[in-house]
Amino acid sequence: MALRVGVIGGGQLARMMVPAAIELGLDVRVLAEGQGMSAAIAVTAEGDHRDLDTVLAFARDVDVVTFDHEHVPQDVLRGLVDAGVAVRPGPEALAVAQDKITMRTRLTELGVPVPDWAAVHDQTELGAFLDEHGGRAVVKTARGGYDGKGVRVVTDPSDVDDWFLAVSEAGGDQALLVEELVPFTRELAQSVARRPSGEVVAWPLVETVQRDGVCAEVIAPAPASAGRIADVAESIAVRLAEELRVTGVLAVELFQTDDERILVNELAMRPHNTGHWSIDGSTTSQFEQHLRAVLDLPLGATGMHAPTAVMVNVLGGPADGDLAARYPAALEAFPEAKYHFYGKSPRPGRKVGHVTVIGDDVDDVVWRARSAAEHFAD
Ligand code: ADP
Repeated sequence: MALRVGVIGGGQLARMMVPAAIELGLDVRVLAEGQGMSAAIAVTAEGDHRDLDTVLAFARDVDVVTFDHEHVPQDVLRGLVDAGVAVRPGPEALAVAQDKITMRTRLTELGVPVPDWAAVHDQTELGAFLDEHGGRAVVKTARGGYDGKGVRVVTDPSDVDDWFLAVSEAGGDQALLVEELVPFTRELAQSVARRPSGEVVAWPLVETVQRDGVCAEVIAPAPASAGRIADVAESIAVRLAEELRVTGVLAVELFQTDDERILVNELAMRPHNTGHWSIDGSTTSQFEQHLRAVLDLPLGATGMHAPTAVMVNVLGGPADGDLAARYPAALEAFPEAKYHFYGKSPRPGRKVGHVTVIGDDVDDVVWRARSAAEHFAD
């Protein structure tokens, strides 16, 4: 009988697991939030991932449960574990990725370099942090942020009054995360995968370019990263995967600073936008690797098909919403590009797809990938 993987969440990450599951002969099932989701082709159940009974019913018929996102509440995760379901990554690991204050606390305990940070409950505490950090800082909501939503540069303690209000209304010991505004020279990301029996593999370190808090481009491997920076990034990610007992893919977002130091920004315990290049650029894509890892199968090789791979996101898409109308010109202009679309309707800033090109010369590959993606913009 085929191995059965249940994925909670019907977004593009679940969608991109499907071809890998088909190749490996796995039975992949998706619990989606509603109709018309990206992963619709593999949806076997619809319902609320915050409801234990819904998730338990879905999990009954699979060998392992994994995720398209990090929003399944801890009580639901624990309920699954108590019912004997293999949940990968498990609740303890996921707790670190679900809440940015928990993440900063754990990384600090582990002695991993992170930006200066504090948990703040009100204007007074935020004001004190601003005074100590030259009057500028970055405030983040601890939970629920993505693509830069929930990240704000502040210069005055009143700049996030709306968030303080939401936090105090939520009750409990909720707080906002404030951190130094890091003067980074570039952003990097290091992905690794770990299986329950302990094997860990790493892909090459990549450079990521963000626009308005959203990942726009990824270059693999990160230019001029051979040697120390790549070694440091890999050892941080491997160590985190082991210490946090992550199962599946772990993506570590990093800041490289002027002084050639690396700070950890964020962790994601699932395939990640900064690893999409691996579908076309690596022997084993992050989606295949995630499936292997959560099933505790031997992990695949992570070497590259070419010296460089560049991925450019298609953000927003054409204003008239008609992506398909752009296919003929794009596909003809760049037949070497690999086009991936997520079945999502275009909307300003929304990630609707990506394009990857591989080749020998970084500048040339960047140009080709950007130009191919531009065919889908206005
Ligand atoms: P999200 O969870 O929405 O992806 P991140 O914490 O990854 O939010 O932040 C999004 C982007 O905002 C980062 O990729 C980076 O460009 C910028 N950013 C975040 N934190 C800082 C910081 N402390 N200093 C400078 N820039 C930051």
